[in-house]
Amino acid sequence: MIPNPIAPTVDFEADGIQHGFLRLPWSRNESAWGNLMIPITVVRNGFGPTALLTGGSHGDEYEGPIALSDLARNITLEEVNGRIIIVPFLNYPAFRAGTRLSPIDAFNLNRTFPGRPDGSVTEKIADFVLRVLVPMADLVLDFHSGGKTLDFLPFAACHVLENKEQERRCREARDAFSAPYSMTMLEIDNVGMLDTEVEALGKIFVTTELGGGGTATSTSAGIAKRGVRNVLKHMEILAGEREESPSVALDMPGPECFCFSEAEGFVEPLVDLGAKVKKGDPLLYVHPVDRLDLRPGEYRAGLDGILASRHFPGLTRLGDCLAVVAVPDGSV
Ligand code: CA
Repeated sequence: MIPNPIAPTVDFEADGIQHGFLRLPWSRNESAWGNLMIPITVVRNGFGPTALLTGGSHGDEYEGPIALSDLARNITLEEVNGRIIIVPFLNYPAFRAGTRLSPIDAFNLNRTFPGRPDGSVTEKIADFVLRVLVPMADLVLDFHSGGKTLDFLPFAACHVLENKEQERRCREARDAFSAPYSMTMLEIDNVGMLDTEVEALGKIFVTTELGGGGTATSTSAGIAKRGVRNVLKHMEILAGEREESPSVALDMPGPECFCFSEAEGFVEPLVDLGAKVKKGDPLLYVHPVDRLDLRPGEYRAGLDGILASRHFPGLTRLGDCLAVVAVPDGSV
């Protein structure tokens, strides 16, 4: 196997707090022998478990970068038992551009796993994460939000797994995050995702969707900051009591949760995030943009539940995800 070209400037085995870079050689017109410098913080105190904390896999999602840069700056060695690897802006070129995909190669990092050591920039990042960082980790927490095109109720999430003991450990870590909602998430397409690769290794994996629209709110940032510390306390990597708050469990039982646009147009929401809906209730209209003598397309709930996600921009294209209805499943 070709070694990954990324050279970390930090020592993962050293005790202490180190702020450094993942240095990825990136030869280009502006810099012949240049590098991409991805910020990383490693905190180690003794021989406890390891948590890998990542944000910015999609470059237009901000709760992860906010919470993880806050943690990196403010954590103290005395409160740590074990190791925390913090990469707040994993797809750094995308983060700098404020875009979901990398502006260098147009790859979506969270559809690029397992990646390639000899591929494009994004493929090299994926390969490094999976072959170098993930093997060190007992738990991976990968922050996501809706980005510029989706908005979500704030939730931490895990998946249904074949290994029920592993699923239980993932669910406990998800619940420890203590977001307002705790989702058992169904992916539209889980091939190429970090989630799938980490779960296949038998490790604890937690992800989030904490808002969206290509920005954060003080509420969503607060949920992220509290949640990451709660998960680290759950893993006994961080000392202290968790800050628990009530959370509604949500389930996505099947593909009827999703509404995808079958026309171009502009969106008129008929219900807002968190609203209770019954199967068949209208969720939104998609109005035609070019004439006034046509009825708008009406999109209805495929099952009883609450609106958990919505299309964010006013304009929609054919095939866009317009809405997700999830089913409340008690409290956690
Ligand atoms: Ca995302």
